[in-house]
Amino acid sequence: MRLAQERAEIVRFAQRLRPDGLVVGTSGNLSMRVGNLVLATPSGLDYDTLTPDLVCVTDLSGRLLEGRLEPTSEMPLHLSVYNTTDHTAVVHTHATAATAVSTLVAELPVIHYLVALFGGPVRVAPYATYGTPELAASVTGALEGRTGCLMSNHGTVTVGSSLAQAYQLNLYLEWLCEVWLRASTAAGAVGRLPRELPAKELQRVIAKFETYGQVAPARPVSG
Ligand SMILES: [Zn+2]
Repeated sequence: MRLAQERAEIVRFAQRLRPDGLVVGTSGNLSMRVGNLVLATPSGLDYDTLTPDLVCVTDLSGRLLEGRLEPTSEMPLHLSVYNTTDHTAVVHTHATAATAVSTLVAELPVIHYLVALFGGPVRVAPYATYGTPELAASVTGALEGRTGCLMSNHGTVTVGSSLAQAYQLNLYLEWLCEVWLRASTAAGAVGRLPRELPAKELQRVIAKFETYGQVAPARPVSG
Protein backbone atom coordinates (compact mmCIF):
# COMPACT_ATOMS: atom_id res chain seq x y z
CA MET A 1 0.00 0.00 0.00
CA ARG A 2 1.55 3.29 -1.03
CA LEU A 3 1.75 6.25 1.35
CA ALA A 4 1.70 3.79 4.26
CA GLN A 5 3.51 6.16 6.61
CA GLU A 6 1.26 9.12 5.78
CA ARG A 7 -1.90 6.99 6.11
CA ALA A 8 -0.72 5.84 9.53
CA GLU A 9 -0.13 9.44 10.56
CA ILE A 10 -3.68 10.43 9.59
CA VAL A 11 -5.04 7.53 11.67
CA ARG A 12 -2.80 8.39 14.64
CA PHE A 13 -3.92 12.02 14.83
CA ALA A 14 -7.57 11.28 14.00
CA GLN A 15 -7.69 8.89 16.93
CA ARG A 16 -6.37 11.60 19.24
CA LEU A 17 -9.17 14.05 18.34
CA ARG A 18 -11.77 12.71 20.77
CA PRO A 19 -9.45 11.95 23.74
CA ASP A 20 -7.92 15.43 23.34
CA GLY A 21 -11.39 16.97 23.52
CA LEU A 22 -11.19 18.56 20.08
CA VAL A 23 -14.31 16.85 18.68
CA VAL A 24 -17.43 14.97 19.76
CA GLY A 25 -18.54 11.83 17.92
CA THR A 26 -17.41 11.71 14.31
CA SER A 27 -17.16 15.46 13.78
CA GLY A 28 -13.93 17.15 12.72
CA ASN A 29 -11.53 16.01 10.03
CA LEU A 30 -7.87 15.98 9.05
CA SER A 31 -5.89 15.97 5.86
CA MET A 32 -2.38 16.25 4.54
CA ARG A 33 -0.94 17.03 1.13
CA VAL A 34 1.82 14.92 -0.40
CA GLY A 35 2.83 16.33 -3.75
CA ASN A 36 -0.33 16.47 -5.85
CA LEU A 37 -2.17 14.02 -3.61
CA VAL A 38 -4.37 14.70 -0.60
CA LEU A 39 -4.90 12.16 2.17
CA ALA A 40 -8.05 12.79 4.23
CA THR A 41 -10.25 11.20 6.85
CA PRO A 42 -13.41 9.54 5.50
CA SER A 43 -16.83 11.11 6.07
CA GLY A 44 -18.80 10.09 9.14
CA LEU A 45 -16.61 7.16 10.18
CA ASP A 46 -16.02 6.46 13.88
CA TYR A 47 -12.35 7.30 14.44
CA ASP A 48 -11.93 4.14 16.52
CA THR A 49 -12.63 2.06 13.40
CA LEU A 50 -10.37 4.08 11.09
CA THR A 51 -7.51 2.04 9.64
CA PRO A 52 -4.77 3.12 7.18
CA ASP A 53 -6.49 1.41 4.23
CA LEU A 54 -9.68 3.42 4.86
CA VAL A 55 -7.87 6.78 4.53
CA CYS A 56 -9.06 8.54 1.36
CA VAL A 57 -6.57 9.66 -1.27
CA THR A 58 -7.70 12.30 -3.77
CA ASP A 59 -6.15 14.62 -6.28
CA LEU A 60 -6.14 18.39 -5.77
CA SER A 61 -9.61 18.67 -7.31
CA GLY A 62 -11.04 16.17 -4.82
CA ARG A 63 -11.35 13.22 -7.20
CA LEU A 64 -11.14 10.02 -5.18
CA LEU A 65 -8.15 7.95 -6.31
CA GLU A 66 -7.86 5.44 -3.48
CA GLY A 67 -10.26 4.35 -0.76
CA ARG A 68 -13.70 2.83 -0.61
CA LEU A 69 -15.33 5.54 1.53
CA GLU A 70 -16.25 9.11 0.69
CA PRO A 71 -13.77 11.71 1.95
CA THR A 72 -14.84 14.20 4.63
CA SER A 73 -17.73 16.51 3.73
CA GLU A 74 -15.39 19.45 4.40
CA MET A 75 -13.15 18.45 1.49
CA PRO A 76 -13.81 21.80 -0.31
CA LEU A 77 -12.27 23.59 2.67
CA HIS A 78 -9.18 21.34 2.76
CA LEU A 79 -8.69 21.58 -1.01
CA SER A 80 -9.10 25.35 -0.95
CA VAL A 81 -6.20 25.60 1.52
CA TYR A 82 -3.99 23.36 -0.63
CA ASN A 83 -4.90 25.14 -3.86
CA THR A 84 -4.25 28.65 -2.51
CA THR A 85 -1.39 28.27 0.00
CA ASP A 86 1.81 26.30 0.63
CA HIS A 87 0.40 24.59 3.72
CA THR A 88 0.48 20.81 3.61
CA ALA A 89 -1.75 19.87 6.56
CA VAL A 90 -5.22 20.92 7.72
CA VAL A 91 -6.97 20.13 11.00
CA HIS A 92 -10.66 20.99 11.44
CA THR A 93 -12.26 20.56 14.87
CA HIS A 94 -15.31 21.52 16.92
CA ALA A 95 -13.34 22.18 20.10
CA THR A 96 -15.68 23.45 22.82
CA ALA A 97 -14.11 26.73 23.93
CA ALA A 98 -13.15 27.73 20.40
CA THR A 99 -16.65 27.02 19.11
CA ALA A 100 -18.15 29.06 21.96
CA VAL A 101 -15.83 31.99 21.18
CA SER A 102 -16.73 31.73 17.48
CA THR A 103 -20.28 32.81 18.38
CA LEU A 104 -19.17 35.91 20.32
CA VAL A 105 -16.50 37.90 18.48
CA ALA A 106 -15.12 38.67 15.01
CA GLU A 107 -11.54 38.14 16.20
CA LEU A 108 -10.11 36.41 19.27
CA PRO A 109 -8.97 39.20 21.63
CA VAL A 110 -5.19 39.09 22.10
CA ILE A 111 -4.82 38.50 25.83
CA HIS A 112 -1.89 36.05 25.61
CA TYR A 113 1.36 36.20 23.65
CA LEU A 114 0.88 32.68 22.23
CA VAL A 115 -1.53 34.22 19.72
CA ALA A 116 1.75 34.97 17.92
CA LEU A 117 1.90 31.27 16.94
CA PHE A 118 -0.86 32.05 14.45
CA GLY A 119 0.95 34.97 12.77
CA GLY A 120 -1.41 37.63 14.16
CA PRO A 121 -4.84 37.98 15.74
CA VAL A 122 -7.00 34.93 15.04
CA ARG A 123 -9.98 35.87 12.88
CA VAL A 124 -13.46 34.35 12.92
CA ALA A 125 -14.51 33.28 9.41
CA PRO A 126 -18.09 34.42 8.65
CA TYR A 127 -20.64 31.61 8.83
CA ALA A 128 -21.61 29.49 5.83
CA THR A 129 -23.22 26.05 5.67
CA TYR A 130 -20.84 23.16 6.35
CA GLY A 131 -19.28 21.44 3.35
CA THR A 132 -20.00 24.29 0.93
CA PRO A 133 -17.63 26.21 -1.35
CA GLU A 134 -18.89 29.35 0.45
CA LEU A 135 -17.53 28.04 3.75
CA ALA A 136 -14.26 27.07 2.05
CA ALA A 137 -13.90 30.63 0.69
CA SER A 138 -14.77 32.18 4.03
CA VAL A 139 -12.19 30.07 5.87
CA THR A 140 -9.49 30.60 3.25
CA GLY A 141 -10.03 34.36 3.57
CA ALA A 142 -9.80 34.27 7.37
CA LEU A 143 -6.60 32.22 7.15
CA GLU A 144 -4.78 34.77 5.02
CA GLY A 145 -1.39 35.36 6.69
CA ARG A 146 -2.44 33.11 9.58
CA THR A 147 -2.03 29.47 10.59
CA GLY A 148 -5.45 29.21 12.21
CA CYS A 149 -8.92 30.69 12.39
CA LEU A 150 -12.24 30.16 14.08
CA MET A 151 -15.33 29.39 12.00
CA SER A 152 -18.37 31.32 13.15
CA ASN A 153 -20.91 29.10 14.93
CA HIS A 154 -19.00 26.01 13.84
CA GLY A 155 -15.41 25.36 15.01
CA THR A 156 -11.77 25.80 14.07
CA VAL A 157 -9.25 25.26 11.30
CA THR A 158 -5.48 25.15 11.77
CA VAL A 159 -2.88 24.60 9.07
CA GLY A 160 0.83 23.90 8.88
CA SER A 161 3.70 22.23 7.16
CA SER A 162 3.00 18.94 8.92
CA LEU A 163 0.04 17.24 10.54
CA ALA A 164 1.87 17.36 13.89
CA GLN A 165 2.25 21.12 13.58
CA ALA A 166 -1.35 21.80 12.50
CA TYR A 167 -2.63 19.50 15.25
CA GLN A 168 -0.54 21.18 17.93
CA LEU A 169 -1.79 24.58 16.77
CA ASN A 170 -5.34 23.35 17.19
CA LEU A 171 -4.61 22.46 20.81
CA TYR A 172 -3.05 25.90 21.38
CA LEU A 173 -6.05 27.62 19.77
CA GLU A 174 -8.47 25.76 22.02
CA TRP A 175 -6.38 26.69 25.07
CA LEU A 176 -6.27 30.38 24.07
CA CYS A 177 -10.05 30.41 23.62
CA GLU A 178 -10.55 28.72 26.99
CA VAL A 179 -8.35 31.33 28.69
CA TRP A 180 -10.28 34.18 27.08
CA LEU A 181 -13.63 32.65 27.99
CA ARG A 182 -12.59 32.19 31.62
CA ALA A 183 -11.13 35.69 31.83
CA SER A 184 -14.25 37.17 30.23
CA THR A 185 -16.51 35.24 32.59
CA ALA A 186 -14.56 36.49 35.61
CA ALA A 187 -14.26 40.01 34.23
CA GLY A 188 -17.67 41.00 35.59
CA ALA A 189 -16.42 40.44 39.14
CA VAL A 190 -13.71 43.06 38.76
CA GLY A 191 -15.77 45.38 36.60
CA ARG A 192 -13.63 45.42 33.47
CA LEU A 193 -12.75 43.41 30.38
CA PRO A 194 -9.66 41.17 30.17
CA ARG A 195 -6.52 43.24 29.50
CA GLU A 196 -5.32 42.91 25.89
CA LEU A 197 -1.72 42.98 24.68
CA PRO A 198 -0.77 45.94 22.45
CA ALA A 199 -0.43 45.17 18.73
CA LYS A 200 3.27 46.10 18.79
CA GLU A 201 3.94 43.56 21.54
CA LEU A 202 2.25 40.85 19.47
CA GLN A 203 4.45 41.81 16.50
CA ARG A 204 7.52 41.63 18.76
CA VAL A 205 6.68 38.08 19.83
CA ILE A 206 5.93 37.06 16.23
CA ALA A 207 9.43 38.29 15.30
CA LYS A 208 10.92 36.37 18.25
CA PHE A 209 9.18 33.17 17.13
CA GLU A 210 10.48 33.69 13.59
CA THR A 211 14.07 33.97 14.78
CA TYR A 212 13.37 30.96 16.96
CA GLY A 213 13.12 29.16 13.63
CA GLN A 214 9.51 28.16 13.62
CA VAL A 215 6.00 29.54 13.41
CA ALA A 216 4.49 26.74 15.45
CA PRO A 217 6.80 25.02 17.87
CA ALA A 218 7.70 21.46 17.05
CA ARG A 219 9.38 21.55 20.45
CA PRO A 220 7.74 23.15 23.47
CA VAL A 221 7.63 26.93 23.75
CA SER A 222 9.31 28.18 26.88
CA GLY A 223 8.27 31.33 28.70
ZN1 LIG B 1 -17.18 20.94 11.14
